[in-house]
Amino acid sequence: MTDLKDVTRPPDWQDDVRQGVRHVRDLAALPLSPAERAAAQEAASRHKVRAPKAYLDLIDWNDPADPIRAQVIPSLGELEETEGELGDPIADHEFSPVPRLTHRHADRVLLFPTYQCAVYCRFCFRKESLTSIGRGYTREALEPALAYIADHSEIREVILTGGDPLSLPDKALAEIFARIEAIPHVRLLRIHTRVPVALPSRITSGLVAALQGRLMITVVTHFNHAREITPATEMACRTMRQAGFVLLNQSVLLKGVNDTVEALEELCRELMYRLGVKPYYLHHGDLARGMAHRRTTIAQGQALVEALRARLSGICNPVYVLDLPEGGGKVPLGPCPIEGRDGESWRIRGQDGAMRTYREIVGE
Ligand code: SF4
Repeated sequence: MTDLKDVTRPPDWQDDVRQGVRHVRDLAALPLSPAERAAAQEAASRHKVRAPKAYLDLIDWNDPADPIRAQVIPSLGELEETEGELGDPIADHEFSPVPRLTHRHADRVLLFPTYQCAVYCRFCFRKESLTSIGRGYTREALEPALAYIADHSEIREVILTGGDPLSLPDKALAEIFARIEAIPHVRLLRIHTRVPVALPSRITSGLVAALQGRLMITVVTHFNHAREITPATEMACRTMRQAGFVLLNQSVLLKGVNDTVEALEELCRELMYRLGVKPYYLHHGDLARGMAHRRTTIAQGQALVEALRARLSGICNPVYVLDLPEGGGKVPLGPCPIEGRDGESWRIRGQDGAMRTYREIVGE
């Protein structure tokens, strides 16, 4: 167990941002070969680049296949677009009745307070929105979306996503929280964020104080590899748990990053046992453009989750899902253990691989 008193934190999270990569020109300071640097600069001219120092410090620069590097340093693979890939893979824009809001399911909406992030992930399925819209938070920009939520009493859950909501200043977060809290039918505020992973120093007492009130808060973090779990991320998650937030994690299955049973097993165990974060979803790669080099096949994903199911306890096992194109929503892809049925008798394969029969016995 790490002694959290020993954690050395940057004096200010903003220093962590300032000392990281914020512009294409900052790539020149990284220990890349001339060819790697040229490739990174070319790819970053298409999709924005940003990484706080704390995240860059996790990279083993001697390993060209380092899993942290693969997530954040631009590469030429991103520029290879394949027929059938999509600019808006899950149809956020199609289901957007007003700017900065997506309403796909009756009881919940996505709200985009900002299209900016603390880190720009190379695999991001919203990267084209981040590049083309690219705007930050203003009170005025959010008004139509907040009015829409107030007018739709079926909405119970508001999901702040983006862009990264936790990249906003405390004052902006407090404003957004207060406006949503004032809408009586909204009961839960969910926040999707990479900040606890890439900029854990940003999870301060001021940040959690900005999110205290009537609404239940669920934070969905986005750890993809056990190497992202550090004493600083441990402290960030502890701060959020102590504030009463429910913590879940969604990962993306990424070739060359976490597409082995060992990598996923370690990630899921450390999330649950060290951070107190429940592994929630393992996403199959969507059809974001320029991502073919990071996608696995669905059959590979199914084999991985089947192996995980045998190794991990239920609370450590994520659900393997695909967010379908055209706004079809998330569907589970995990292999089905049901092999067949004969009337009331179901043939179901157990975790040990052996077949069992379960006979339905249901009272009148
Ligand atoms: S933080 Fe989220 S929205 Fe921003 S680039 Fe990464 S995955 Fe995309």
